[in-house]
Parts: sequence; C-alpha cells; structure tokens
Amino acid sequence: ASATPDDLTDKLWGMHNTGQNGGKVDADIDAPEAWAIHSGRKDAPVIAVIDTGVDYNHPDLKANMWVNKGEIPGNGIDDDGNGVVDDVHGFNAFANSGNPMDGHSHGTHCAGTIAGVGNNGQGVTGVMQEAQIMAVKIFADSGSTNAAAIIRGINYATQMGARITSNSWGGGAANQGIFDAFNSSPALHIMAAGNSSGNNDTRPHYPSNYELPNNVAVAASDRNDNKASFSCYGEKSVDIAAPGRDIYSTVNGGGYASKSGTSMATPHVAGVAGLVASAFPDA
Ligand code: CA
Ligand code: CA
Repeated sequence: ASATPDDLTDKLWGMHNTGQNGGKVDADIDAPEAWAIHSGRKDAPVIAVIDTGVDYNHPDLKANMWVNKGEIPGNGIDDDGNGVVDDVHGFNAFANSGNPMDGHSHGTHCAGTIAGVGNNGQGVTGVMQEAQIMAVKIFADSGSTNAAAIIRGINYATQMGARITSNSWGGGAANQGIFDAFNSSPALHIMAAGNSSGNNDTRPHYPSNYELPNNVAVAASDRNDNKASFSCYGEKSVDIAAPGRDIYSTVNGGGYASKSGTSMATPHVAGVAGLVASAFPDA
C-alpha cells in the first residue's frame, strides 16, 4: 500500500485527475490524499458487491477477496451451516450455489474500482488498495434476475456480516420484499441512481429511491466534473455524484476494460465508505 501506488495509471482519472485526456485538474475523488492517511487493510470491514458475480481468480482481485473461514473449499459440505455449500468467496443467489463467478464482467468491473489490489505492479488500484470483497451474484450471466434472487443475495450479505453493500443495478417497480431485505440490514447500502438521464424525484428509480436511513444514491460525473449525460439525478432522491464515465477497471477472465454508468460511480462511493470504515471501525 502506498499514497502513490505503482498501478495508479493515467486511465484512473476518477482517482487522480491531472488533466489527462482533456479532463479538469482535480475533478476526482482525491484518492492519493486519502491514501496518505489510510489505504485499507487485509482485515477491513467486508464490502458485498451485489451484482453479476466477481472473477475471484482475477490477479488484481484475488488477494482482496473475502474468504469465508468457516467453509472448507470444494468438499461439497456446508461446513459453516449457513445454508450454502462451499461458499468460500460469496454466494450465487441466482443459482443458489456457493460459486459467484462472474460470467458477464459488470460485477468484476465494480469490484476492481472498490478494491483492485493496489501497488502490486499490475493493472489498476481500487479506492481501497487492501480490502475484503464479498461476491454476491444476483444476476444470471445473461443479466436477468428476479426479486427472490435479489432478496436471497441481500440477506446473505447481512447474515455473513457485510458492513457495506455496493448495488450497481436497478429498475422496475418498487418491491416490498427487496425493501424489507435492505431495511433489515445494518449495513450501509450504496446504490446507483440509474442511467436513463431522468429526474428520480419525479420518476422513482429502485432500489436507489427507497426511503431508508442507511442508503446512498449515486449519480455519475465525468472527467470535467459535469453530470454524465446519461446519469439520473434528483435534488431529494440522489445524494452524491462520483466518477462514472470512461472508468477503467478489471473484467472477468483476468482482463481490464473501460465502462460508463452510474454502475461505475457507485463503487467509487462504496470504496470511500470502505476506507472510512476501515480507518474508523467504530464510526
Ligand atoms: Ca456454507
Ligand atoms: Ca493492481
């Protein structure tokens, strides 16, 4: 870990914007300034990435994956009795299995922004250079899901002690069961505001519009500190904006790619929340 990690590439304008590629100097989250104080730790509070899964074998993520110490890998037994067999790095809530491998790339991208392994001489650094990422897969690799899978995923994160959840997903009508799952969790829930460029005050977007004491709705900004054109917004319903256009991060299969969306802004906020929780565990 370092205040100036060797993998803070020019592509990571959201972490540190020096005006590269026509951006605005300091339109970023001030990551180096934070890292001078704290850059994470291997036993940091657990962050659940509730998404399409995570490539837990990615060389820039593997060391920062949460490990369920109560589970013996690959023995076909639910050793810790939590209802899921061989859930070593998280839960596949869609398929009801212990394997949350990402076959899509979206969740792996989000995980890399939160906690790509920092200062390891390759790829990217996350907002947290050291962390514990729990993979909670609520989508099939095709991107489809259902309320029951989403609820199972949220409840697993709660049961297994996630302090923060990162939710780069949304759409559809409000759902009482999903609301209840979030509401019964003591974690801080970071939620994407959506990409339809609408005003969420007048056209609610879920889950980010749920009236909860412990959620944060995130819009997307660009490298010039403007709202990204696609980003939803809302004076009452959206809490904060974070970098979400042309975000470079990990993808499944050990690779890297740039993506845009409030999906990419959300993990910047989850990472910052994780740094705070790591530096100040009693907060
Ligand atoms: Ca288990
Ligand atoms: Ca790295």
